[in-house]
Amino acid sequence: MTKRGKRTNLVHGGTKRSQWGEVSEAIFLTQGFVYDTAEAAEARFIKTGPDEYIYGRYGNPTVAMFEERMALLEGAEDAFATASGMAAVSGALSALLKAGDHVVSARALFGSCLYVLQEILPRFGVEVTFVDGGDLDAWRAAVRPETTLVFFESMSNPTLELVDIEAISAIAHAVGAWVVVDNVFSTPIYSKAIEQGADIVVYSATKHIDGQGRTLGGVILGPRDIIRGKIEPYMKHTGGSMSPFTAWVMLKGLETIDLRVRAQTAGAKAIAEAVDGHAKIQRVIYPGLASHPDYALAQRQMGAGGTMLSIVLGGGKAAAFRFLNALQVFVISNNLGDAKSIATHPATTTHQRLTPEQRAAMGFGDGLVRLSVGIEDPDDLVADILAALDAV
Ligand SMILES: *Cc1c(COP(=O)(O)O)cnc(C)c1O
Repeated sequence: MTKRGKRTNLVHGGTKRSQWGEVSEAIFLTQGFVYDTAEAAEARFIKTGPDEYIYGRYGNPTVAMFEERMALLEGAEDAFATASGMAAVSGALSALLKAGDHVVSARALFGSCLYVLQEILPRFGVEVTFVDGGDLDAWRAAVRPETTLVFFESMSNPTLELVDIEAISAIAHAVGAWVVVDNVFSTPIYSKAIEQGADIVVYSATKHIDGQGRTLGGVILGPRDIIRGKIEPYMKHTGGSMSPFTAWVMLKGLETIDLRVRAQTAGAKAIAEAVDGHAKIQRVIYPGLASHPDYALAQRQMGAGGTMLSIVLGGGKAAAFRFLNALQVFVISNNLGDAKSIATHPATTTHQRLTPEQRAAMGFGDGLVRLSVGIEDPDDLVADILAALDAV
């Protein structure tokens, strides 16, 4: 399997057929499993081997198919599927950390990730130091011999700054710390995170992996000894496992993710190029534009600019709201990675709880609109954006 190409693995990887020989992956919608004899039950509980299941929270054939397909895509030894992206982030951190440990994290994080690192981990005696993710000197200064783990999102939200996986992995590994990367904005299609030094890669599968706005899910990928030795015991006993129905939706999502993400990227690039220099826009932020400060890093790390772009309108909140309300194809929502194009005003929604000063420190204000580009015709998307700008 591993010798096959990415798209072939996305369609066939990890497939386990039942005795009925179904074409589409089966949903094993069952909580438990029956054993032929009492002896077989006893044996199963002594040691559960591959493709042997005892309870839905511990493992399920449909979920295992999703885990195998994801591991092939990421180039990871193994994977554990979770109920949501946050179950993946909090599970990975909780499974790897203990009281007395020190963590260094990038400051620009998804709100719930920030909550876990800032509010929850310290309650259990884990010290967390926050740094500017793009400042390698700050990472060097922050890691200490007792640093056990570093955490960051490889592309920040909503300012789309790249964090250098290779450089930070070298800094972390020099003190023996694990590198845990939340790679959602980079997408698993463009990820080479493990090759670049990450130990553990996590995704919210809710985003590009589902890609059609249906279910929440997540996945933790990494070396088999960590996934099966530390992550699986933590997740299966604390209850954050993925449901078989979700795994089935995600398997269907994986079949088309390469096509979707590449089409989304082409659309994002077309929009970025069309609005670059537009009179009503102060700044276009797209890592695939040569003018983006991290353009070279994006090319090296992802080989593409990705599916997200942000535009900064001159007239603050009023201008941003007029722009959003004039959109006809883009929908106003806060998800991302979807087949439908989505526009978000972070200052009043996803980042509403931050103070204006905190938003300014993250590099954005009331004029920023974040765009998650879908798979509609790029010409229609560009026309929608230009018409909405006319309305501003
Ligand atoms: C959405 C998201 C999460 C959380 O995922 P859920 O599936 O919503 O729990 C974590 N990190 C990043 C970067 C995200 O975009």
